[in-house]
Amino acid sequence: GMLLPLCFMAEAEYMKYKDSKQPLNVRIKDLMSRMTLEEKVGQMTQIERTIASAEVMKKYFIGSILSGGGSVPAPKASAEAWIDMVNDFQNGSLSTRLGIPMIYGIDAVHGHNNVYKATIFPHNVGLGATRDPELVKRIGAATALEVRATGIPYVFAPSIAVCRDPRWGRCYESYSEDHKIVQAMTEIVPGLQGDLPAGSREGVPFVSGKTKVAACAKHYVGDGGTTEGINENNTVIDRHGLLSIHMPAYYNSIIKGVSTVMVSYSSLNGLKMHANRDLVTGFLKNSLRFRGFVISDWMGIDKLTTPIHANYSYSIEAGIKAGIDMIMAPMNYTEFIDGLTSQVKNNIIPMSRIDDAVKRILRVKFVMGLFENPLADKSLVDQLGSQQEHRELAKEAVRKSLVLLKNGESADEPLLPLPKKSSKILVAGSHADNLGYQCGGWTIEWQGLSGNNLTTGTTILTAIKNTVDPLTEVVYEENPDSNYVKSNNFSYAIVVVGEHLYAETFGDSLNLTIPEPGPSTIYNVCGAVKCVVVLISGRPVVMQPYIPLMDALVAAWLPGSEGQGVADVLFGDYGFTGKLPRTWFRTVDQLPMNVGDPHYDPLFPFEFGLTTKPAQES
Ligand code: BGC
Repeated sequence: GMLLPLCFMAEAEYMKYKDSKQPLNVRIKDLMSRMTLEEKVGQMTQIERTIASAEVMKKYFIGSILSGGGSVPAPKASAEAWIDMVNDFQNGSLSTRLGIPMIYGIDAVHGHNNVYKATIFPHNVGLGATRDPELVKRIGAATALEVRATGIPYVFAPSIAVCRDPRWGRCYESYSEDHKIVQAMTEIVPGLQGDLPAGSREGVPFVSGKTKVAACAKHYVGDGGTTEGINENNTVIDRHGLLSIHMPAYYNSIIKGVSTVMVSYSSLNGLKMHANRDLVTGFLKNSLRFRGFVISDWMGIDKLTTPIHANYSYSIEAGIKAGIDMIMAPMNYTEFIDGLTSQVKNNIIPMSRIDDAVKRILRVKFVMGLFENPLADKSLVDQLGSQQEHRELAKEAVRKSLVLLKNGESADEPLLPLPKKSSKILVAGSHADNLGYQCGGWTIEWQGLSGNNLTTGTTILTAIKNTVDPLTEVVYEENPDSNYVKSNNFSYAIVVVGEHLYAETFGDSLNLTIPEPGPSTIYNVCGAVKCVVVLISGRPVVMQPYIPLMDALVAAWLPGSEGQGVADVLFGDYGFTGKLPRTWFRTVDQLPMNVGDPHYDPLFPFEFGLTTKPAQES
């Protein structure tokens, strides 16, 4: 009589944490009471997809996987293939004793940019020029759909860096030098995650279901303020400057329910942010009441020492004690797991710190419904890229991001908008027919170096051809000499030149010049025929010497896959409305120079942008 009820109980044991009707805190508490130290440390570990497998997930109780920008380029896989891959890892996690789902994260920083055929939106600098937070929110929503289409529930975006020096290689990931614009653009958070329900508590993460993704505000804090814009370097700033320039967009993101925050590689007044307990635990978690989880950057704790990984037990202790909850891509994840486990066993790191981390990670997973829906289905696959709506949205963003810096010698003789009908026009420049340059770094590949064939979209040249009158002849020459231009009777020329491809440290630049043959193309073409220069760049670059040569200048930033947006405005289907999100310097020795600085003497000031009206239909 005794055995039967016992067996019955073991089989049907009621697991509160699995019951979605239980309150969130009850579920978290119940689950944590069942977890071993190994299971907890596993939750705090995020590994790269290229070294992950269902077996590894199961063996180490790994809490998260990522597709990192710096890893092997993503394959040209379909949405279905992505889902199969993610689900395979997930099945490994679900087969553990407690079946805690893992969370898969990816850098979707301008659309779902790791994935072939995704809609690639302008990089943040261009979105800053639109001054349109509601548009940016819609971009967040479209990005969330495309990311979910591939079975992924988490993105390492937005960057809410306030780039104070364009020499920084990540300046294009920043909406503006002005924190107010960056604050406004945190509307991308509810775009990605969904709107907070009325009455929800400040600081609590929120993701509203299967068409939304968890977001990550990065990189906390002061990443955009490093000296000379050197990536991952030191930001020297007093408390007032920090709180008034680099911190405000974190308040907004947290109030809007951002689920995670990524710590910056950079230092603040000499102390690495990954070891900054005052700001990570004291300010972010305690003062701002952020209740989501804090994630390190890629090998961020390994980078606490020079050389990297030199004193790993120090790195683990400093990073975890600072308040980091999840460690992204530790150089050697078993070493991290063993090291952290033994530091807890030896009372170097208190169990309360581990519990804080795990509670936060589980809270996000519960809030997202990952326990109820751990496996992605294929119902959203056609949201990936081919969706006409998303391409239209990207075009709208491109049109609004363009900043018209010069338009004729005076306001009475504007060159733009261009006529759609003319006998023969010249399109020139290395960037006119190159989707890679248009999209910039963080496009399929981290550095985007293989350029033109990485993804699908419309180049500016193709867009021009699609826009002009069918009787207008469009001639493309990448880098013509001036005699050729002079002898050909072109009505006018469109020169599309700019920066080459880069991401992160590889984009740091002290001279900010556009590489050859860009300048030669400007000289050869603009010296010979009326010309508009369309500049493709992630930031202001040296332009002062070329301005007198050109009749019009358009800053197009890194517009992404929809070059049609550029042609739409050049030919007057829409007007120019964009405003500079950054100060345009005259010479690099003025840098750093931001709006409000004493001795402000820019080539084009912050907020500058000429406007045009849409042309009348002829
Ligand atoms: C970058 C992060 C990014 C991570 C994963 C790091 O190098 O700093 O912004 O999220 O890689 O790709």
